[in-house]
Amino acid sequence: MKVIEHISKAKSTLFSIEILPPLKGQNINSLFQTMDELMDFSPAFVDVTYHREEYVFRDAGNGLLEKHVVRKRPGTVGICAAISNRYKVDTVPHIICGGFTKQDTEDALIDLNFVGLDNVLVLRGDPIKSEGRFKPEPDGHAYAVDLVKQVVEMNKGEYLDSDLKDVQKTNFCIGVAGYPEKHFEAPNRKSDLRFLKAKVDAGAEYIVTQMFYDNRAYFRFLEECKQAGINVPIIPGLKPLASRAQLSVIPHHFHINLPDELVQLVEKSKTEEEVRKIGVEWCIQQSKELMAAGVPVLHYYTMGKAKSTKEIAKAVF
Ligand code: FAD
Repeated sequence: MKVIEHISKAKSTLFSIEILPPLKGQNINSLFQTMDELMDFSPAFVDVTYHREEYVFRDAGNGLLEKHVVRKRPGTVGICAAISNRYKVDTVPHIICGGFTKQDTEDALIDLNFVGLDNVLVLRGDPIKSEGRFKPEPDGHAYAVDLVKQVVEMNKGEYLDSDLKDVQKTNFCIGVAGYPEKHFEAPNRKSDLRFLKAKVDAGAEYIVTQMFYDNRAYFRFLEECKQAGINVPIIPGLKPLASRAQLSVIPHHFHINLPDELVQLVEKSKTEEEVRKIGVEWCIQQSKELMAAGVPVLHYYTMGKAKSTKEIAKAVF
């Protein structure tokens, strides 16, 4: 079922999660264990992230470095299929512009359609770590909006090869990302909102937000979206703080702020387990307030670990 159908049929706030494919070489069982623990809370859907290639430089043994291309977490489509089959839950594969030509995208969408998936979360993807800025493939998309348009075209039965006869239409429900505290490359929030609206105008049916730790950022974003004429459901994404190191890792990696009250609580804590519990309690309070405000879904970034999300879900749902 489509994410948007789950939302329209729901009588109260839904629970959903995001998981990551395991590192290359690992098996899928750890993911199944995470799923086993979280299925008790009946997630409406499960997002599976997509991880593009990275460059690593290895010692060539002659004083020079050799460049290698590696994908650390392949398997998004297979995991979606395996989880939908095993748990009878809807999965949402993330699809990105980075590393894909339009033809690659078309083929990937055909795979997703054949597997029987109804949903995609459409993203641009981050720049490759060793490159400063995002570079699309020569025949790829530069922005998520262009990838949204390609999915919409396939939903109308328009493939890249116009010679195809008797083509089947796909029927994907399209979600996109939104940033309550602004995307890090956007010159300001207004310009970021304009491009978010362009994704919705192009056919995105709902938005999932970047994580935030101060609900005021989400409520302000909601209001700004409304004023900008964005009327699709806006699903808040939450990630419980899990370690002291994340006080600097999260702002660095995700370009968001952590409220000082949370920072001080973590600074005063003595052990990593104490920090994890602070993170869980903070996320419970955020979730309760968001639920009381009537958000359609509470979406948790699990990072493949069930423990904290389970404690939160137990307290909130
Ligand atoms: P876009 O919407 O294309 O926006 C990127 C930037 O360009 C923004 O600053 C925007 O304001 C600007 N912009 C947009 N359109 C235009 C235009 N036409 N002209 C000029 N500027 C424009 N990354 C992954 O690699 N894999 C994942 O699985 C993944 N999952 C994610 C899930 C969520 C919920 C979120 C919030 C992010 C996720 N990301 C993932 C990260 C995401 O790919 C990055 O944040 C990326 O840098 C931006 O993606 P986007 O889809 O928001 O890009």
